[in-house]
Amino acid sequence: MAQEDLFKKIIAHAKEYGFIFQSSEIYDGLSAVYDYGQNGAQLKNNIKQYWWDAMVKLNENIVGLDSAIFMHPDTWKASGHLSAFNDPMIDNKDSKKRYRADELIEDYIDKQQAKIDKEVAKARKKFGDDFDEQKFMETNPRVQKYREKMEATRQQLIKALEDDDLKALGQLIEDCEIADPVSGSKNWTEVRQFNLMFETQLGSLSDGANKIYLRPETAQGIFVNYLNVQKTGRMKLPFGIAQIGKAFRNEIVARQFIFRMREFEQMEMQYFVRPGQEKEWFEHWKNTRVKWHKALGIDENMFRLHEHDKLAHYANAAYDIEFQFPFGFKELEGIHSRTDFDLSQHQEYTGKKIQYYDPELDKSYVPYVVETSIGLDRMFLAVLTAAYHEEEVPKDNGKSEQRVVMKLPPALAPIQLAVLPLVRKDGLPEKAREIIDSLKIDFICQYEEKDSIGRRYRRQDAIGTPYCITVDHQTLEDNTVTIRDRDTMEQERVATDQLSEILDKKVNMKHLLEKIL
Ligand code: ATP
Repeated sequence: MAQEDLFKKIIAHAKEYGFIFQSSEIYDGLSAVYDYGQNGAQLKNNIKQYWWDAMVKLNENIVGLDSAIFMHPDTWKASGHLSAFNDPMIDNKDSKKRYRADELIEDYIDKQQAKIDKEVAKARKKFGDDFDEQKFMETNPRVQKYREKMEATRQQLIKALEDDDLKALGQLIEDCEIADPVSGSKNWTEVRQFNLMFETQLGSLSDGANKIYLRPETAQGIFVNYLNVQKTGRMKLPFGIAQIGKAFRNEIVARQFIFRMREFEQMEMQYFVRPGQEKEWFEHWKNTRVKWHKALGIDENMFRLHEHDKLAHYANAAYDIEFQFPFGFKELEGIHSRTDFDLSQHQEYTGKKIQYYDPELDKSYVPYVVETSIGLDRMFLAVLTAAYHEEEVPKDNGKSEQRVVMKLPPALAPIQLAVLPLVRKDGLPEKAREIIDSLKIDFICQYEEKDSIGRRYRRQDAIGTPYCITVDHQTLEDNTVTIRDRDTMEQERVATDQLSEILDKKVNMKHLLEKIL
């Protein structure tokens, strides 16, 4: 299936099955803002739980925090967000569309790579088994030309971003003859800086309102609470503070569904370490986070690590865990070594000492920080992308039909067990409800009696329910039910008192956590 089609299908499926709705849809929606529906909210909560438990439950030296979205406005002066949290924007004068200048150039670089891939594929087809890819890459003049262009553009882009040189970015767009992807026009404005923070007022205007900001990252809530947590929790270095919460960015172009939103959720953990040990801890957290992703059983080829070319103003090392979304490999999570930048800045702006007394060294210092930062919504989209499958399945009459099945990691599924009475009479609904009552404290169960069994199975497949059980007349006689596995579609007759154990093995989050211990 073409990747574009896959993306459209995932978006439509997410809406049809109550995962994600456009915000304020009855008012025709609000651009790039989304609501999570009945299944989406549960799936999102499960992802949060997996992350939270992996951080806070599995590590005795990591504690949680829930800080406010509003913060003292000076926080953002100290953190550098007021002056430096900008993206370079450019408008097309003909289409009136706005773009991030750096993204237009990155897309151009990707296009050169796509041209190289095409040449290689063509040559492979022509030469068959004799094809030597390395030699071809080194000698083919067309490939050489694309490669040189790609490398030169990349270097110029990095330099322009490092120097904050907006003119150079504009020049690069002109030199590469980049056209507006919508209209094809090359009639651009100059490149300008755009601050991504949302502003609002605290207090009513008459009594002198203060300008404040919606936090663009949750991390600063952790930094300003460093002393509180360290002192009251009597934490010793190294230790971490984990937080899940909303963040807001007035993105120049919010697009690609829930990948880039203006209101989103982050799951961030700041790990405070002794200066000089940050590289070691950076490696540790990079590996630990990769393990967390892999434990979900998603195809490993859908993940890759990418080292940053341009470091943020606070970092001395940075890696992205990228995921293969339907629109290509893009950042899912960032692992950053943030040095002592943030804590030192807050120390300077508040005049308060933010230091740690290290008894082993008999010395006080500002700790260094290694951060792991993942977008919850992006993780949600990654999970949906990996789960979406279309399959041909045999029907009873010997023909086949198509089913859409969400092969979600079972521990994340919004519904873990669907209980289906075969018919809506003869005491079967009552028996089904009795079974749910015995399981609902431990598992998320759903009762469904409408439509034929086959159609009910399809609906549960579409939301990713790992197991369905059917309650029939035999159940009344011997307390057995048929249990159907979502992925294999195999059915088995089991006693109702075995259900709890079967379900536990499949859906208990504990089994995911065991894999990353
Ligand atoms: P990008 O380069 O895609 O704009 P970023 O490098 O600015 O992302 P960070 O500041 O490192 O992102 O934020 C940490 C994580 O928060 C990202 O890895 C991503 O998963 C998530 N995130 C950032 N911006 C958004 C957004 N607008 N919508 C949804 N998630 C986001």
